[in-house]
Amino acid sequence: MKKGKLIVVSGPSGVGKDTVVSKYLEKHKEDELSISMTSRAIRNNEVDGVNYYFKTKEEFEEAIDNNELLEYAMYNGNYYGTPRKEVEKRINNGINVILVIEVVGAMNVKNMMKDDCTLIFILPPSMDELRERLINRGTDSMDSIDNRLDIARREIEVSEKYDFKIVNDDLDKAVNELENIIKNKIN
Ligand code: 5GP
Repeated sequence: MKKGKLIVVSGPSGVGKDTVVSKYLEKHKEDELSISMTSRAIRNNEVDGVNYYFKTKEEFEEAIDNNELLEYAMYNGNYYGTPRKEVEKRINNGINVILVIEVVGAMNVKNMMKDDCTLIFILPPSMDELRERLINRGTDSMDSIDNRLDIARREIEVSEKYDFKIVNDDLDKAVNELENIIKNKIN
């Protein structure tokens, strides 16, 4: 059986990457999202096991020690990581898997998987627009927003190392571009 594709999507916090990916997955139910593990606190609108597997710092560190994670990284003071087993099982069953992860984890996946993965970076139209979106989302304090914007500037520098870049200035257009990359541009 032909193996599934491993697709890594990154982009600054607030760029809308989760929305772009979920719209894409509504159209392509044959492809699947990897659900990450995190030690960050659950937000009001989130569900354990749907948005993330929410864990304590200690539980997360146990998963690291047991080699249960394909990759992990610290972001804004919390751990985030990709459960290895679920990804490997789906890929071996011919299912394309999308990881929506930050840049350190993405680079680690690239180093491990080489040409067996594709990295896609979603860019905001501008930094001002990104700031507006983070404020409007209303999930972070101003301190946390400033911190996320600092991280965003550094992430955008790393985006040079990605295979493809998409500017999210129009949601439908961004979804179409993602579709074109996954279905037509990679093997
Ligand atoms: P948030 O706190 O906004 O949900 O996520 C913060 C950042 O962590 C986002 O850039 C998100 O893509 C990233 N992230 C989510 N899951 C993972 C993961 O499993 N591994 C890594 N390296 N980053 C992740």
